[in-house]
Amino acid sequence: MAIKTVAQYIESIRDKREVWIDGERVEDLTTHPHIRTAVEMGAMDYAIAQDPRYRDLMIEIDEKGEPYHFCFKPMMTREDLMRKREVVQVTARTCFGMPGGAKFTGIDGLNSITAVTRRMDKEIGTSYAPRVEAFRQEMKANDSAVAVAVTDVKGDRSLRPSKQRQHPDFYLHVVDETRDGIVVRGAKVHISTSATVHDIIVIPTRAMLQDDTPYALAFAVKPDAKGLIHIMAEHEVADDANDLDSPLAAHIYTSESLLVFDDVFIPNDRVFLKGEWRYAGQFAYMFANYHRASADAYKSIENEMLVGAAALMAEYNGIAKAPHIQDKLAWLAWYTETTDALGRASCFDCSEDRELGVVFPDPVYSNAAKFFFAEHYHQAIKHLVDITGGIVATIPSSKDLLNPQIGPYVEKYLAGKEGVPTEHRFRMIKLVKDICSYFMQGVTLHGEGSLAAQRMSIRATSDWARYISAAKRAAGIREEKPHPSYGSLLDYPAWTWRKEKNII
Ligand SMILES: Cc1cc2nc3c(=O)[nH]c(=O)nc-3n(C[C@H](O)[C@H](O)[C@H](O)COP(=O)(O)OP(=O)(O)OC[C@H]3O[C@@H](n4cnc5c(N)ncnc54)[C@H](O)[C@@H]3O)c2cc1C
Repeated sequence: MAIKTVAQYIESIRDKREVWIDGERVEDLTTHPHIRTAVEMGAMDYAIAQDPRYRDLMIEIDEKGEPYHFCFKPMMTREDLMRKREVVQVTARTCFGMPGGAKFTGIDGLNSITAVTRRMDKEIGTSYAPRVEAFRQEMKANDSAVAVAVTDVKGDRSLRPSKQRQHPDFYLHVVDETRDGIVVRGAKVHISTSATVHDIIVIPTRAMLQDDTPYALAFAVKPDAKGLIHIMAEHEVADDANDLDSPLAAHIYTSESLLVFDDVFIPNDRVFLKGEWRYAGQFAYMFANYHRASADAYKSIENEMLVGAAALMAEYNGIAKAPHIQDKLAWLAWYTETTDALGRASCFDCSEDRELGVVFPDPVYSNAAKFFFAEHYHQAIKHLVDITGGIVATIPSSKDLLNPQIGPYVEKYLAGKEGVPTEHRFRMIKLVKDICSYFMQGVTLHGEGSLAAQRMSIRATSDWARYISAAKRAAGIREEKPHPSYGSLLDYPAWTWRKEKNII
């Protein structure tokens, strides 16, 4: 069985995993009013992979003739990255802008551990890469849903893992070691889909120093491992949320967990980093490269929905032709298409490490795309809310619309432009409300790393030598070794005097 059906996926996550939500232990994830929504989103990945329309995109055939999900293939060419981007975008279009629940963040974790363990084995003679390969084969055969746990709870952010003062467990670390494996303690936070997957990849959240050796840790763990506790985020809608009042939130619950490791045993064959502290940051960095490109891919789809809602609200309110509204709509289309173009560029102009046999998205472009959409997100929301009107804050419940006694008033007075059914305007206002939710704000700013993380990556990976050569050339400052892009250019005609005066 290489490609699971929806039914097989749902059945396969009914085990003894310790999942809590709203102060209660959950016995069956698949029937719980909120978690069921998360399960449904995970199931969409399986539904898409099973659908003949997407077979060419989603399915690969291995050397034994067995089908497997393309996401388990290591990223070896630009075409792989472009195809992966398409997988994310098709999934996001299907799931109202969300990237699915089975093969998103975790796959970027898999790509990170693939690249970094190959590098470690090559540089310092460890033998982690074959373990990663064996793990990949197992997930491939099982058609696993996979999550990644990167973000530690971190305590005092100004202190490194080993220097925390209240207790030593703000970053995940090894507390015991036997011949067969390690025992780990600590907690990761905001871990999307951890409760509804088959495998969780765990990697460090930051670079480390020698003192942090016990914290330099990467491994894979099963969601039902003994001592692993998933405390799920409060869902932003009530148990009985309906489609009319919460068109997005009633269906979307990416189910982030506070993931507590209460002395969890990890067998050696699932350990991919243990104490090699110099490499800790590389796991986080490589994950971010892949994951920010994935984020750019789904955000541009989510933004299609946002700009569409703004255009429809303008239409329904009868203001679509007003110049200030058209300016705002143009801005929103620019926001959407620029996010898409930057994300696409990060995959098209990817970086290649031939020795390791992997490609990864261009770090500057993928970070720029993530930074771009997060930095301008509140401006986009401002335009959307401005166009929609104050009704986004005051809209009555669907129970009023559907009530036989007062429904006709809601129907009559919440109408907009002639010819537009009130129900359509009502639904669109509710969609706008969901698009402006605290979840959307949190995930847009912090999901895939905070703005500071992107600024740091852009600063670290930008081609400063090229910028400097450009400025020196224009200012007439001689450079011994200009950047290759500037080293062999034609002389600009007016520069003869500079040559004569020997200043270039
Ligand atoms: C919906 C959602 C889903 C997510 N899914 C996942 C997931 O599946 N897996 C996963 O591993 N993570 C996930 N994340 C976590 C995400 O990567 C983090 O939220 C992000 O990296 C920011 O970390 P934080 O939330 O701890 O905020 P913080 O790091 O506390 O950031 C708060 C502020 O503090 C600043 N700051 C932090 N440290 C320092 C410092 N040392 N010096 C100066 N300033 C500092 C930040 O720049 C920011 O301005 C998810 C997050 C969200 C919101």
